[in-house]
Amino acid sequence: MSRRREQRGIFMEFSPWDRPPLTAARPDSTMGGENALWEEMDMDIQGLQKMTLLDYPGRVACTVFLGGCDLRCPFCHNGGLVLGPMPAELDSEELLAFLRKRRGLLDGVCVTGGEPLLRPDLPELLSQIKELGYPVKLDTNGGRPAQLRALAEAGLVDYVAMDVKNSPGRYGETAGVPGLDLAPFRESVSFLLQGTVDYEFRTTVVREFHDADSFKAIGPWIAGAKRYFLQSFVDRDTVLREGLHPWDGETLGSFADLVRPYVEQVELRGV
Ligand code: SF4
Repeated sequence: MSRRREQRGIFMEFSPWDRPPLTAARPDSTMGGENALWEEMDMDIQGLQKMTLLDYPGRVACTVFLGGCDLRCPFCHNGGLVLGPMPAELDSEELLAFLRKRRGLLDGVCVTGGEPLLRPDLPELLSQIKELGYPVKLDTNGGRPAQLRALAEAGLVDYVAMDVKNSPGRYGETAGVPGLDLAPFRESVSFLLQGTVDYEFRTTVVREFHDADSFKAIGPWIAGAKRYFLQSFVDRDTVLREGLHPWDGETLGSFADLVRPYVEQVELRGV
């Protein structure tokens, strides 16, 4: 049995790679019915940034965008990927051909979304990327801990960046899903803290959602983490909700100070 098929077999055990209910009140889909999204997903790829120096710490990488997400963060920049329609920009074969050509020029692949862990064929794609010798960074909202663990334990991801949207008390509001069940997110945080795979936690900080109390709660939640980044919200035309604002640098610095007692490395991004 090939290594790839073995790895795929690992994930086939996770039949709920399909669709465990994440929320008490799932968001309305504006893309023709959410069931359609889950049942018809294949490895169409919605976007490829051919080179980035920012997305994968310390590496010259490309970024692969996979459409579809189960959250509706009002500050999300990727409205087109979340709400659809989501036409494919390329497919996995074209991506792999691109990566073959760029060997020696790129030294990492970021896989982002949307929420990549919703894709049933993600293990297969990551396996193929790894076979080409590329380290993989995965961006995730953390809502699928079983899938995250499976990828990490199979060695299919080298670095995970997980969003911590806010304090538990304001999580659902900040994720755009009232009544959101936090258990999966807590489980993903706990798993990453074990250090099976290298990781960072990060929060996009928005004036309308975050204040000092947010970070007083986030610090103890992720206590012992290696890295935590506060990313300043940047307004764009593609943001899901209009009228949101960033905090100023000084305030962001004060928020970072609230987390520093709990986390080895705390830094600001985009400030
Ligand atoms: S910010 Fe991330 S988790 Fe939130 S809606 Fe956008 S893609 Fe989904």
